[in-house]
Amino acid sequence: MSFSLRPHLAGMSPYSPGKPIDEVKRELGLTRVIKLASNENPLGPSPEAVEAVREAAAQLHLYPDASSYALKQAISACHGISPDHLMLGNGSDDLIHYLCQCFLEGPDTQMMMGDPSFVRYESGGQLADSQVIKVPLNSEWRHDVHAMAASLTPKTRLIFIANPNNPTGTMVSKQEVDWLLTQLPAGCVLILDEAYFEFAVGTPDFPDSLDYVKAGAPVVGLRTFSKAFGLAGIRVGWGVAPLAVIDAVDRIREPFNVNILAQSAAIAALGDPSHVAATVDLNKKGLARIEAACQSLGMSVVPSLANFACIDLGRPARPVFDALLRKGIITRCGDVLGMPHHLRVSVGTDEEMDAFLEAFLDVCRS
Ligand SMILES: *Cc1c(COP(=O)(O)O)cnc(C)c1O
Repeated sequence: MSFSLRPHLAGMSPYSPGKPIDEVKRELGLTRVIKLASNENPLGPSPEAVEAVREAAAQLHLYPDASSYALKQAISACHGISPDHLMLGNGSDDLIHYLCQCFLEGPDTQMMMGDPSFVRYESGGQLADSQVIKVPLNSEWRHDVHAMAASLTPKTRLIFIANPNNPTGTMVSKQEVDWLLTQLPAGCVLILDEAYFEFAVGTPDFPDSLDYVKAGAPVVGLRTFSKAFGLAGIRVGWGVAPLAVIDAVDRIREPFNVNILAQSAAIAALGDPSHVAATVDLNKKGLARIEAACQSLGMSVVPSLANFACIDLGRPARPVFDALLRKGIITRCGDVLGMPHHLRVSVGTDEEMDAFLEAFLDVCRS
């Protein structure tokens, strides 16, 4: 049977997530499987968020607050930004999709992104049938703002920069963002996707999207509760944007896109900064251990400001990925991320890092 589907959907592919733990257990007959593939929080959610979800469960017969009033107030109080400049999403993925729908329409419009960077930008651009301009990262695996500026045209409506970038963990500096903003064509918006903000904040010259929005610059910032806050499974992300962008997203978003459990969990998680601090501390230790192990093997790691490390194996990553999988360790193989010689490993608990490093050294030395 054939249907009248939009023709450009044929050029899109479904998102390929990290392998689920249960699937690997089933397929390989393993009992212990560790997933270091999706940059999730190894400490789990804040206990306060879990308690808030329990309490909110009694309200499941009610529609959630479509304006997420209380959550916006909480974010506003934490970050010193007016609630009017905030938008909430069912994960920041949701907001990426809405932003593409708001700004892009057909092949006469362009979206620009780094390569490699987060794959969801590309699918947002493709869904809008716009041209997706992918600008290669530089030799340090960092966004090349000069090459990006050189590729801008009057048709470019959106630029996505993940900062720090996924899958590399590298950042663009405040000076680079300042300069890039002087190069934007009229009407174009720079989206700084700060999914890993909490791990990177405090790094010298690390820019904060909120500062730009407060100053009236054509910038949208995206944050998420999925990484440092440990709430990936419940789906909440937020954005900060000029009022006209907030207004546009409000017109097209699904009115109840952030569910009642998610709103409660996020408010409670914001009220437990010690959980985020413990997460960031654990992450620093884990990254340092990965770097030391790679150094002992003569391998380099892309310097990461996020909660994962991108290891340059110096050879195709697929056999290493497969060997680790057989040992019950799920990582992300660089070949699907546009870095065929790299392996992306999320930082886990101390015990998970023990298991990963033992398996990794074993695989690489044999
Ligand atoms: C994980 C991640 C997100 C967050 O996705 P959610 O939909 O909020 O879970 C956004 N951008 C990047 C670059 C990411 O790595």
